[in-house]
Amino acid sequence: MDKVTIFDTTLRDGEQAAGGSLNVQEKLEIAKQLENLGVDVIEAGFPISSPGDFASVQLIAREVRNSIVCGLARANPQDIDRAWEAVKEAAQPRIHVFVSSSDIHLMHVLQKDRDEILQLTRDTVARAKSYTDDIEFSPMDASRTELAYLYQILEIAIDAGANTVNIPDTMGYAIPGEFGRLIAGISQNVPNIGRAVVSVHCHNDLGLAVANSLESIKQGVRQVECTINGIGERAGNASLEEIVMTLKTRSDFFGLETDIEIQQIYKTSRLVSELTGFSIQPNKAIVGANAFRHESGIHQDGVIKMPITFEIIDPKTVGVPSRSLVLGKLSGRHAFKERLAELGYSLGDDDFNRVFYAFKELADKKKRITDRDIESLVAEEQRTVSEVYHLDRIQVSCGDRGIPTASVVLIAPDGKDQADAALGTGPVDATFKAIDKVVGVSNKLTEFSIKSITEGIDAIGEVLVRIESDGITYTGRGADTDIIVASAKAYINALNRLLAAK
Ligand code: MN
Repeated sequence: MDKVTIFDTTLRDGEQAAGGSLNVQEKLEIAKQLENLGVDVIEAGFPISSPGDFASVQLIAREVRNSIVCGLARANPQDIDRAWEAVKEAAQPRIHVFVSSSDIHLMHVLQKDRDEILQLTRDTVARAKSYTDDIEFSPMDASRTELAYLYQILEIAIDAGANTVNIPDTMGYAIPGEFGRLIAGISQNVPNIGRAVVSVHCHNDLGLAVANSLESIKQGVRQVECTINGIGERAGNASLEEIVMTLKTRSDFFGLETDIEIQQIYKTSRLVSELTGFSIQPNKAIVGANAFRHESGIHQDGVIKMPITFEIIDPKTVGVPSRSLVLGKLSGRHAFKERLAELGYSLGDDDFNRVFYAFKELADKKKRITDRDIESLVAEEQRTVSEVYHLDRIQVSCGDRGIPTASVVLIAPDGKDQADAALGTGPVDATFKAIDKVVGVSNKLTEFSIKSITEGIDAIGEVLVRIESDGITYTGRGADTDIIVASAKAYINALNRLLAAK
């Protein structure tokens, strides 16, 4: 069967999304998981855009062995050189060169004429090719570019050495039938197109990113650019899991395959959601909390009798853990370890002991421990590994008559306890002010959100906090059965990231 190359841009376009900032270690963690997922190409970042981006692309290039690692570059020599510097240690490096090709962009963004852009394409693709053989070229805003000119620029890029040409629907403006005709036109009118893989990069402004990608595949495209959970600029990119599972589920229609290890889909989705702080809508296809939940009695009855009656995908095949097994107070180390393994975690002894201890503590407060609880415990333990300040204890009083007051004890980097107290407009405000008195770094709180991760009054609350300092956003997370404690943990987590970055 013919294969579709999966090009994941979660770490580049996905991370570009408003409010989604990842640190180097988090990007590496996602990249390693993308490698486990079996993506063919990981677009790790845009190296010239910032020193942090450069460092993370370089680290990913060193650590990832089984996927191509790609760095993005504009069509100028400095960008190309910097991208190569970042990816050159990869087992399989790729440079992705892009330039605007629509007249609107030429006139208003680049202020260059068409011939200048053609020359620039020729020169910069050739420069990239002098470093490595694997070159991708994208004419930005391709779907609004005059066709004859689009064909011409692609022909030049391929002649200069591009072996993948990517057609972006940058603004998410295309309609499937029309976009498919654009792709078919390229295949027919670019004389040397046989020497390159044609790729698409679709945005979801009209909710059509996946549909446009699939229609392009029907028209001969053999690489799709996509992101986990469909995150990305504005309304996001085409969602990897939806494209892969459509090709898989409807292989009768497409007759195509991918190298994706679909059992890793759920875990990857959770990891990206957890680290970026972008939660997944419950009705999201494939990975949403309700994606495999049957509410209608007729459907439930059918699924119990025979799953294929109302289920086109077996949730287990994409790694959704079965909800039947619930652990509790009496569950031992062995059962817990097995459950962790089933959820895809392999922890070292020390980490395991810490998580097991946290599990036992939680089991004292909460009767039924579900998979989501366990995932949250593991995440919480991983967060405390490289802490600068650690929350030792906290006490809060509040109510409609009292003055909200918080006192906190933090363990400072020197190992000593530091205590302080503050008043606030509410318990969270008082807590954050007390923490500020101890840590003493100025910042602005830009986002605070809280959600319950499982059902029931004893559920764990997960808090997400974003703070801003010197124009950079830091995200923090915390989880606890007590939402004030979870808030304190999340705020300290964000402060720890800020301190680590400084
Ligand atoms: Mn994009």
